[in-house]
Amino acid sequence: MKPNKQSLPDKNGFFGDYGGKFVPETLMYALEQLEETYLNLKDDDDFKKQFYKDLSEFVGRPSPLYFAERLTDYYGTGSIWLKREDLNHTGAHKINNTIGQILLAKHMGKKRIIAETGAGQHGVATATVAARLGLECHIYMGAEDVERQSLNVYRIKLLGAQVHKVDSGSATLKDALNEALRDWVTNVDDTYYIIGSVTGPHPYPMIVRDFNSVVGEELISQSKELFNKMPDAIVACVGGGSNAMGAFYPFINIAGTRLIGVEAGGEGVETGEHAAPLNDGSPGVLHGALSYLMQDDSGQVKSTKSVSAGLDYPGVGPEHSWLKDSGRAEYVAVSDDAALKAFHQVSEFEGIIPALETAHAFAYLDTLMKGFDSNSNIVVNVSGRGDKDINTVAEIDGIKF
Ligand SMILES: *Cc1c(COP(=O)(O)O)cnc(C)c1O
Repeated sequence: MKPNKQSLPDKNGFFGDYGGKFVPETLMYALEQLEETYLNLKDDDDFKKQFYKDLSEFVGRPSPLYFAERLTDYYGTGSIWLKREDLNHTGAHKINNTIGQILLAKHMGKKRIIAETGAGQHGVATATVAARLGLECHIYMGAEDVERQSLNVYRIKLLGAQVHKVDSGSATLKDALNEALRDWVTNVDDTYYIIGSVTGPHPYPMIVRDFNSVVGEELISQSKELFNKMPDAIVACVGGGSNAMGAFYPFINIAGTRLIGVEAGGEGVETGEHAAPLNDGSPGVLHGALSYLMQDDSGQVKSTKSVSAGLDYPGVGPEHSWLKDSGRAEYVAVSDDAALKAFHQVSEFEGIIPALETAHAFAYLDTLMKGFDSNSNIVVNVSGRGDKDINTVAEIDGIKF
């Protein structure tokens, strides 16, 4: 299927073959209500005004498109530009989407907010917007991640939310998501579930994409202003896929811009020890949607491996599966080692310590930049800052405090 002007998903929530609503009966009504509310509000002038006002005054948007001079010199084959989502309040792109979803929750009269979190970034972003509106907030987090990300656990508590430790399964992000869905089934009347990526059942992948598309919209006007044409390529890391989708979506019909998603290659895609479902997975259902998934022959979800907690997820948002099959976007993977090398390189060259997730996008420049000439413009979506990852990297480097 060729990408065209038709806007997806279709009315059943499908992007080509992917997406849909694979949920228990009790959630069907809640999802329909959410979709109806969203479709009514999304073009409403007051709603849009409030959303953009909050993004400007609370998040600090627009985020700059910044010329990376020393990285550009290092590769010598084209200008490298950084979309600085790391400068947002709370340190990553996730706040864009939570700002939008909390406005939906408020409009629907919901009193209780729940969310899942892996590295804790989405938990922090959700607890932040819930605090701002004075709403009760519960964050589900795998026991393994609670251990690895203790600083974010404390941040979430400081913001007045409760953290629920999840011990089931591998005690990581997918298990936290299961538990959040279970809570939602039980408390659906007064509870709004803020999903953290372009994953889950319809309408979530569409809603999260639309709210985070402010990134790509800004990119279009900033590209015109700064280099007077559209970028030759946009590179973004892909976990669930929200930072990439937000940057890619406004460019889907701009044919000259290559869209490149970088998955977590872990120990190397060929070893099977990774978190790269688009590179080494097959279609299956996880968390309410059909999409590429890391599964074994009997459909059991495989365990994942990545140095980056935010990319350590066996599934991916359904729209990416469609973009992959249609050929409109390209999906590659880089290893933990390559990401760690890029983490250090970007810190030293640019004075910007990127998130380990983002470091995956940077690592792919080693391969990508060979194919460009000096007139080209390449954008890296800097999904977040690396403060949260300092301890992980220090440990790998053998440094003790
Ligand atoms: C959560 C996170 C990601 C991965 O999530 P996506 O939905 O794929 O964007 C990437 N980068 C940062 C900084 C994150 O916090």
